[in-house]
Amino acid sequence: MLDLKSDFPTLSNNPNLAYFDSAASTQTHSSVLKAMNNYYENFRSNTNRGEYPISERASMAMDVARSQVANLINVSPSNIMFTGGTTQSLNLVARWMKDYKTVLVTEAEHNANIVPWLTQGRSVDRGNLLVMPINDFDGCIDMYELEKLLQEHASGHQDLLVSICATSNVTGVTQPWGAIADLSHKYGATVCVDFCQTVAHEAIDLKENQVEFAVFSGHKTYGPTGIGALYTSFDFDDLFPQYFGGGAVESVTFNNVSLKNGVDKHCPGTPDIANIIGFGVACEMLKYVGFPTIYLQEQDVLKHLLSFGIDCLPNCKVFPVQGFTNNIITLIPEKGHSADVGVLMANTDVAIRTGKVCAHPIVDRISGGKGIVRISFAPYNDIVDCKKLCQELELALLKIK
Ligand code: PMP
Repeated sequence: MLDLKSDFPTLSNNPNLAYFDSAASTQTHSSVLKAMNNYYENFRSNTNRGEYPISERASMAMDVARSQVANLINVSPSNIMFTGGTTQSLNLVARWMKDYKTVLVTEAEHNANIVPWLTQGRSVDRGNLLVMPINDFDGCIDMYELEKLLQEHASGHQDLLVSICATSNVTGVTQPWGAIADLSHKYGATVCVDFCQTVAHEAIDLKENQVEFAVFSGHKTYGPTGIGALYTSFDFDDLFPQYFGGGAVESVTFNNVSLKNGVDKHCPGTPDIANIIGFGVACEMLKYVGFPTIYLQEQDVLKHLLSFGIDCLPNCKVFPVQGFTNNIITLIPEKGHSADVGVLMANTDVAIRTGKVCAHPIVDRISGGKGIVRISFAPYNDIVDCKKLCQELELALLKIK
């Protein structure tokens, strides 16, 4: 097992911390911080091709970052837009797709793929928001049920959007999103996939598996917070911008405005230059390390957790029933409330997450409203972390009456 903690400053600066909240935010890799500091220390300036060398360098660094982010999912850089993160990306998709008659989501969505649809007047009761249940055994949707819904609701005139999260931040289960996209396309639907919990763990190739929208965040890819990517196979020229101002225009008079072409017309104002640069480096780092290595390292962490009994802790049950295979482990306390576990664990050196983890409908259903205990790991967790987590969690679960 590789020792990676020294590459993540928050971990090396908190040597007693056992950090198991990587699904909320991964730690930032030192190469990311180095690149961001390099910008601030050596070529800090605004972009948009200022006529002096450091501005030109900053503009070029942003272009490089766009290519690095695009390369992670194997798409063209011109199809990538930088956003504030997955939440903002999904809100943009919701605004662009507002005239679509029906939106289909899964039961395991993060609130970020529920609330934007509700606030535009959709609901299950009104029939313009459809929800595919997940089963409690393996956490997946039923493809036969999906096909039935598609048959019923897709008219072939592109008025159905299938918007799903690939990997649930509650169950850790990755839906067969490629097959879901193919089936949806067969019925003429448009597809949006939230890869927020997926891109740091497995290779995503959108050249092979075409979707119309894909979104993810920098802070779950060992990159900076507050930055994300929105990929679309649509022409950015055909999408109506949601923000206006300087930088995104060719010319302005008091009577008229001519917007730039492509993604630029959607991005007025000074971009989040340092974060974009850091996000690019994080994506490149993932490609450089490689998903087979990441997978093997995560499997090692899982083996350690299992050896310390993570799957048979007292007074709780594992969800989904089948158990876990990837980096998210969800426990449902059988006594008390998840907040009780949260309070007890807050007094330890172990960082985990409890509650509804911003995915209220699914957590309410599987926990009867009491919330879950979520353990999420990453390649940097070592055997000491795993032992500490299991010991502290066992003590906490035993104390709850
Ligand atoms: N979707 C999923 C599946 C998530 O896990 C998260 C973050 N918890 C989001 C969306 C929202 O991402 P962000 O907070 O980066 O906007």
